[in-house]
Amino acid sequence: MLKPNKCYGNLQDSYLFYNIAQKIQAYLEAHPDAKLYRMGIGDVSLPLCDAVVKALHQGVADQGVKERFHGYMPECGAPFLREAIAAHYQKRGVPLDADEVFVSSGASDELGDILDLFDRSSTALVMEPAYPAYVDANLMAGRKIVRLAAGEENGFLPQPDDRLEGDILYICSPNNPTGAVFSKEQLQAWVDYANEKEALILFDAAYEAFIEDPDLPHSIFELEGARTCAIEICSLSKTAGFTGTRLGYTILPKGLQRGGMDLHAMWVRNRTTKTNGVSYILQKGGAAVFTEEGQRQIRQNLQIYKNNAKVFMRAANELGLWYCGGKNAPYIWLKCPGGMTGWQLFDYLLEEVQVIGTPGEGFGACGKGFFRFSTFGNPQDTEEAARRLVWLFKGKGY
Ligand code: PLP
Repeated sequence: MLKPNKCYGNLQDSYLFYNIAQKIQAYLEAHPDAKLYRMGIGDVSLPLCDAVVKALHQGVADQGVKERFHGYMPECGAPFLREAIAAHYQKRGVPLDADEVFVSSGASDELGDILDLFDRSSTALVMEPAYPAYVDANLMAGRKIVRLAAGEENGFLPQPDDRLEGDILYICSPNNPTGAVFSKEQLQAWVDYANEKEALILFDAAYEAFIEDPDLPHSIFELEGARTCAIEICSLSKTAGFTGTRLGYTILPKGLQRGGMDLHAMWVRNRTTKTNGVSYILQKGGAAVFTEEGQRQIRQNLQIYKNNAKVFMRAANELGLWYCGGKNAPYIWLKCPGGMTGWQLFDYLLEEVQVIGTPGEGFGACGKGFFRFSTFGNPQDTEEAARRLVWLFKGKGY
């Protein structure tokens, strides 16, 4: 008789988005004409840029012409895209071989699949508040999770210490949900720690394109020693609006070893077994992101989200609320006013000003008392939501 994977029984039900949807539905049933200001969304709202759309069309046209038609693509990625991504890293002073770049269908897929490289007895260290997939993907595989709680006192950027346990270290910078970004010195401490303990960093760089401070690292490979302890998982979802189109990439350095085994060779073997590559058409579209014109165009969209961040930061400053994120990330992580929990603030904002955000409790216990606003909404709604926040809390004397 088939035995199912019993580890699925260890997963906690995810009530966050279900609860939010239920509360919104109940509100709309009671107030059918209400306009809601949805500032909780983690999806982009702006379309693909023109350079990408043209390249996708070109990809489709190629597939209809015998001389330019592509069948199966190389499992680890088309050379033209791997080279374009390696050249992009080189511009930032990170030399990579093109075959250290693995093209993927997005960061979520990779965050799950990459765990094939590690034994089930290895422990995952997750800094919370965290993107929920880190915990769930490891629970499904039967791994033990160690949670490292971050908080206001360390700006939601915890540092390693010798009492920590963990073989797979998740670092997300810029962070979802907090928007906090590790400095070079802070990240170097994690790289040194991982090398010393022979642990491995899974660096989630899904939001690197939002960094504007020139001194902050976009890639873990900007740090000395990262090639011997880190894998970087990146995505075009937020960088270039590919959430519904699906494309990402993973950087896995040659020579990265653990327990006498070569992780790069293992990942090549994994990909050539478990995928038949990403579609040629999508890879054509993805390569356009890394052209000069593509970079100029994606920056125009990113700037719109960044302006939304400024609007929220201005409101938080005006209200004197503690927050992190916003400047180098598409999320603002606010301390709830008046000692409210995230869920209390959620209900209050919905009821009083029809503004929707995400309660911090949804990202781990230490998110209690915090609230996430996303900057992916449309600018007019963002302005209005911020105006309503200021009106609500200034009017009520917070
Ligand atoms: N990593 C983080 C931190 C995210 O917030 C997200 C999506 O919201 C992902 C990964 C998944 O990205 P993708 O769309 O490439 O699967």
